[in-house]
Amino acid sequence: MKGLNLLGSTGSIGVQSLDVARTCGFRVESLAAGSDVAALEAQIREFRPAYAALFNEEAAADLKVRVADTSTRVLAGADGVAFCGAGADGDVTLNAIVGIAGLRPTLEAIGAGKTIALANKESLVTGGRLVTEAAARRRVKILPVDSEHSAIFQCLLASPPNRALKRLILTASGGPFFGKTRRDLENVTLSDALKHPSWSMGQKITIDSATMFNKGLEIIEAYWLFDVAEEQIDVVVHRESIVHSLIEFTDNSVLAQLGHPDMRLPIQFALTYPERRPSPEKQLDLGEVGKLTFFPPDNEAFPCMEICRAALREGGLMPAAVNCANEEANLLFRQGKIRFIDIPDFIRRASSSIENKADYTPDDVFAVDALMRRRVRELVKE
Ligand code: NDP
Repeated sequence: MKGLNLLGSTGSIGVQSLDVARTCGFRVESLAAGSDVAALEAQIREFRPAYAALFNEEAAADLKVRVADTSTRVLAGADGVAFCGAGADGDVTLNAIVGIAGLRPTLEAIGAGKTIALANKESLVTGGRLVTEAAARRRVKILPVDSEHSAIFQCLLASPPNRALKRLILTASGGPFFGKTRRDLENVTLSDALKHPSWSMGQKITIDSATMFNKGLEIIEAYWLFDVAEEQIDVVVHRESIVHSLIEFTDNSVLAQLGHPDMRLPIQFALTYPERRPSPEKQLDLGEVGKLTFFPPDNEAFPCMEICRAALREGGLMPAAVNCANEEANLLFRQGKIRFIDIPDFIRRASSSIENKADYTPDDVFAVDALMRRRVRELVKE
């Protein structure tokens, strides 16, 4: 039995991770979230962690009063969240925080020698060099939770000793606007954009899936996780979300990992690796599925993936810049302040204003974050 530190426990991945913890009987050592007092209180009462934290300090003060009758110690703010990942007793820290807020907890958990189960792709996108160098230094494993990266990780377990890897092929559902032209996208609404065809996820990633920015983030995530060149990472649209991703060897043999779209499987594999255990995921019956379809991505209607590729090629702080500009643009779209179609434009214009550098520190990344959020808000007013 493993002890689990779970960051972002009240979100979509967090709740499914607790489902896995229940099924597998994992001990939960800590729980952390943003501000959802009621959900975290219920989780504390069920899982009895030693520590719990809320980023929002007022919410944490409220939580402290509410769970005063339990033995859980309640912490507050960014320090409290980071402590839950690094200082609590769990041997694995699963980071399911949304956005760049996940970077510092990832770095601190690595510094404390915890195995990282990583759902927070923004940690690798914004601080890829920092995270991978720290993990190599501390000999810490980073196990992917993202379904595409879990699929690639599982396929790579079948690599020959010389690896002989030619290509990674990430699958993309294409989101709710698959097949639409740029013109069709001009008047789409938030509720249209939130109708993901195959996955039920938090709002930020659902919008990123609709713009295809999410696939761009995943290209950068794959680059850091699997030590491949940007040109070796391809994307194919696969509407059914049954093939979670593929790898191609130098002899053109292709391996894929398949399953129903259920995040509990990649979460569980990250937590039980190198073992496998029975899972509640529905057994795959290909006869019932019938047909699997594949299409090339449409980079004209959905330019965000190419924005991320260009940022990855430029390197340094540019991936952080496009990520943070996107976080702000995504939020403004959800608040009804900008149109869906404007998101890529704001990301491009805001990120062109950074002074890039190859050798960056966490503070440089946080400064880029603040600059990008300010810049996007200024652009909206212009
Ligand atoms: P949700 O929005 O559903 O959940 C986000 C979680 O992060 C919540 O628990 C939220 O707390 C918490 N949180 C937000 N800000 C902070 C902060 N500053 N400090 C601590 N906790 C914070 O997101 P998802 O679960 O959908 O996604 C989480 C991550 O996993 C993202 O990086 C996403 O890209 C990735 N991912 C998600 C998938 C999915 O199926 N959902 C699939 C693959 C990857 P609160 O509830 O209190 O606001």
